Amino acid sequence: MNPNYSILFEPVKLGPVTTPNRFYQVPHASGMTEANPRVRAKFRATKAAGGWGVVSTGAVSTHPSSDDSPLPFARLWDENDVRSHALSTEAIHEHGSLAAIELWHGGGAVMNRTSRIPPYSPSGIPWMATHVGFMGQLRPRVMDKNDIRNIVQWQVDAARRAQTAGFDIVYIYAGMGYLGYEFLLEEYNRRSDEYGGSVENRTRFVRELLEATKSAIGNDCAVALRISLEELRSRKSDHYESQAHEVVSLLADLPDLWDVKMDSSPTDCAASRFADEGSHEPVIDFVKQVTDKPVVGVGRFTSPDTMVSQIKRGILDLIGGARPSISDPFLPNKIKAGREDEIRECIGCNICISSWHDGVPVRCTQNATIGEEWRKNWHPEKFEPKKSDDKVLVVGSGPAGLEAGLIAARRGYEVTIAEKSHQLGGRLNFEESLPGLRAWGRLKDYRLYALKQMANVSLYPDSELGIDEILSSEHQRIVIATGARWTRSLYSPLEIPIGRLDGDEIYTPDDIAAGNLPNGKVLVFDFDNYYMGGVIAEYLSEQGNKVEYATPAGHASAWTIMTNEQPYVHQALFNHGIEVHTQMLLENYIDGSASMKNIFTSEAREIDVDSVVIVGLRLPENKLFDQLLAENDAVQAGGIKSVDRIGDALAAGALVHAVYSGHEYARNLDTTDQDRVLLRDLPIVEIEPRRIT
Ligand code: ADP
Ligand code: SF4
Repeated sequence: MNPNYSILFEPVKLGPVTTPNRFYQVPHASGMTEANPRVRAKFRATKAAGGWGVVSTGAVSTHPSSDDSPLPFARLWDENDVRSHALSTEAIHEHGSLAAIELWHGGGAVMNRTSRIPPYSPSGIPWMATHVGFMGQLRPRVMDKNDIRNIVQWQVDAARRAQTAGFDIVYIYAGMGYLGYEFLLEEYNRRSDEYGGSVENRTRFVRELLEATKSAIGNDCAVALRISLEELRSRKSDHYESQAHEVVSLLADLPDLWDVKMDSSPTDCAASRFADEGSHEPVIDFVKQVTDKPVVGVGRFTSPDTMVSQIKRGILDLIGGARPSISDPFLPNKIKAGREDEIRECIGCNICISSWHDGVPVRCTQNATIGEEWRKNWHPEKFEPKKSDDKVLVVGSGPAGLEAGLIAARRGYEVTIAEKSHQLGGRLNFEESLPGLRAWGRLKDYRLYALKQMANVSLYPDSELGIDEILSSEHQRIVIATGARWTRSLYSPLEIPIGRLDGDEIYTPDDIAAGNLPNGKVLVFDFDNYYMGGVIAEYLSEQGNKVEYATPAGHASAWTIMTNEQPYVHQALFNHGIEVHTQMLLENYIDGSASMKNIFTSEAREIDVDSVVIVGLRLPENKLFDQLLAENDAVQAGGIKSVDRIGDALAAGALVHAVYSGHEYARNLDTTDQDRVLLRDLPIVEIEPRRIT
């Protein structure tokens, strides 16, 4: 290990417990609930195996009045839930790590759609989101004193269950719009009793949660406070630098650990398009000056130098990681072994967040194994040895081809990757050059670096393969990873791609990637709805074009609400002077005029532009695959045992789909369907259902 990094492996005392090192996997959503406790246990334990000294749950509801359905959330309501969580704590402890639980009451930010309990809040103020996915129509009730006593008691009951389940660190949660946070912020808390008014009064509820939890379990478990400080830091205080300083001072040494963060998912879990590593620092940098207790915080830390700097400069005691621990569960061990150049660094794309919004176990663009540790028995660093001496030929070096080649090579196969372009990396070579997407290049950089170290890998750029080259290549396993092409397809009121627009003034992202740039004033018509339309608009604007952006959706880059990027996409388009037209269909482009109509009202709109970029339908590029299928006899005669297609050549998707597809191919290239591991998890129901108290 680089001696500069040894500080990262020092233990830290948290009240009655001590961490083995400073790597702290903070609570984060995983999409795993009491419905899949074995999936969850293996997922969390893999991080412990990778060296994370503390491994935390995501939000765990203390009572049915904290019910975020249909979003996934864990529960600790009864004995069955205790057993379900105990699977995780036992698995985490096997690796010498501590297990932390984020007990959580959602207050007025949840809708209790399943429990049908009117949500609890300090003053009946709801969060009224701008996006339909987060909207609900039940406004919260105002908590009376009895409600306050009950919530504190539910926290205590859950803390006792957490201790029984084997947790070492138990959280109080006062962040991200949930109940504790609602008491702290004057907009939510308009009470005139001892829980409202002054900052000290607004802090009282959190203090009571802390004191009650400590007196219940504090001799054996550390009690942590997770708190959002972004808004509080922006508020004036009479005697302190800000209300954040005041709240932390008032509670300074009460928690055994301060876990400090931002207030909303887009700032807390900021995408790399709009925020760099360490983006929380300006908000949380003061906490260690106010408390003597240890502090953990996050910031998409993947560089050990940045981590060491955070500690040496007195910002943090523990390096919090959520996304870095998803992208590379073995990050700490790699630093410890002096292999930090092998870290699979998070690219900050927030596909992991989108999987929580989708209500499924976490998925990651960089790490195809995440969430599949139990179900498919995929370990991020271990691979089943090859079953034959077959040679694998990968055609195309995009994310799918690189991942397939890397995993097949790690299994011991001799691998050749042929790429027609001069540069290996496929679509990423262009995409990483687009505004805000530089960090996404890590996806190819990590894989190319690893592939170049391996003696059983041959990389051939400038090598366009046709069927003849493949048939004579003397490889037994052929995998086609030739990507997809953007089409000039338009979009219909039925919300499906239809028709096509041709002409010299009509472009797609592929044209722009090839350096064929439009001139003058440009309309970007986007019904892909992810990042490409927005970044192309920004890119062209930066090239000097006057740009307008149109989409049939209600927002620009509508799907980016799933990745926390959408507010910033709108800001970026605005800052580039790009006019946004929503609910618009592009119908035609003739003589410098683009004809659009509103998708709902059919109201017509003409705009004068010199060119149009259509960012819509992508279709697989599988001419080569089809030729190989048609030449089955020649394929057999050439000794070829299998021809497969992966990634965008199979089904056009996001980077996450391409990487997963390549990974799955390489894990299974010599496995029959019957031999593939696909376990089905079930809830733990050892105790008969009974009344929840
Ligand atoms: P994916 O996302 O599925 O990995 P990409 O579009 O990123 O797909 O990458 C596909 C790569 O395949 C591109 O770099 C392209 O140049 C390359 N390619 C396409 N056809 C051939 C071919 N016949 N021979 C070699 N490389 C090819
Ligand atoms: Fe990082 Fe993207 Fe993976 Fe999330 S999905 S951990 S942001 S690489």
